[in-house]
Amino acid sequence: MKRRITNAEVLYNGTLQKLEILFDETGILRVAETIDCEECEVIDAHGYAVLPGLIDVHVHLREPGFEAKETIATGSAAAAHGGFTTIFAMPNLNPFPDCAETMKPYLEKIRTDAVVNVLPYGTITKGEKGAEVSDMAAMNELGIRWFSDDGVGVENDAIMEKAQKEVKRLDALMACHTEDMNYRRPGASVHESGYAAQKGWLGIPSECESEQLKRDLKLAEQTGLRYHGCHISAKQSVEALREAKANGADVSAEVTAHHLLLEEDDVKGPNWKMNPPLRSHEDRMSLIEALEDGTLDFIASDHAPHTYADKDKPMAQAAFGIISLETSFPLLYTEFVKRQKRWTLPQLVEWMSTKPAKRFGLENKGVIREGAASDLIIVNLDTETVIHADQFASKGRNTPFDGWTVNCEITETICGGKTVYQKN
Ligand SMILES: [Zn+2]
Repeated sequence: MKRRITNAEVLYNGTLQKLEILFDETGILRVAETIDCEECEVIDAHGYAVLPGLIDVHVHLREPGFEAKETIATGSAAAAHGGFTTIFAMPNLNPFPDCAETMKPYLEKIRTDAVVNVLPYGTITKGEKGAEVSDMAAMNELGIRWFSDDGVGVENDAIMEKAQKEVKRLDALMACHTEDMNYRRPGASVHESGYAAQKGWLGIPSECESEQLKRDLKLAEQTGLRYHGCHISAKQSVEALREAKANGADVSAEVTAHHLLLEEDDVKGPNWKMNPPLRSHEDRMSLIEALEDGTLDFIASDHAPHTYADKDKPMAQAAFGIISLETSFPLLYTEFVKRQKRWTLPQLVEWMSTKPAKRFGLENKGVIREGAASDLIIVNLDTETVIHADQFASKGRNTPFDGWTVNCEITETICGGKTVYQKN
């Protein structure tokens, strides 16, 4: 079935232009000022912007194993609601997708339940225990080209080196949550600072992230693999990445919306608790500048749903993580494009679609042009709406942004030519 979007401002060749798009399930067929197509279905965009579907390389869908928090169905519906048409699912699950036997049924469940493109990571080590490298070659044969032990760092130097060499051999990509547990005391919940001390909360110093990242980056310079740093939060990590890139390492890194928007003294309770934590003003400014100068490559959500009970605890015991698929784009657009006028819309789309697509090897995604995938979103950029956590498609309600006003609303999400979300 051919479909045609009319009355739209299409992000095309880096600017918004009055264009029409003709597409079907196989891809975008034409982009032009006017398109004649009598038999096709017409989608009236009401003058709104049409952007390439957003791409998020860091999502926790919690299934299999933690279906009370989220499922592939609810998490991918949340993605569609937030404008994401391709998401990468982290493997800290039960069972872990760490070999062909567990990966196969997981892939099958994704095929039947997901409403957007879901690409799963395999683990770096068996059971994310850090003791033995997982069977990446067997997973690679099933099409898995991305590996991560997200949730924990790979502590042992020799295991990390062995894993990097295997990822390099497979021409795959390794995405790392770096965390040296020697720096994290039991019960630590927020950034280590005067504010944390005042509140009586145990802090996590920046070195917890940056020291292991430095180890990984040094190794990456030698092994030559494609390495990706997850949810960079600290200034010291930015400096390490800048140096590794200058040395020619094939490394990239992501930053989350919440680390770009919030700081340590915004923390009011468990819905502001995530790992890595919200850090200082200086850290946040260094992240924004690093994104702008290319040291940080793009934005990811680290969508981490939890049940109410997981969060309804004192800071030391509450689960780490917040949900963000349904808020990241509207929040970042509102703050940095609309209010501060610091970024342009095409820049934000580069960081939330084009660049992650390129780095993760999705050749026909992240851009609107003839031949690209029919992954498109229609967005009202001139509105005022309030974020209500109880209206999320996600099972999670754990967000610090409940009640925030945004000037951006996704009105329709099209994935593979089909509408997978539409505003009522
Ligand atoms: Zn992580």
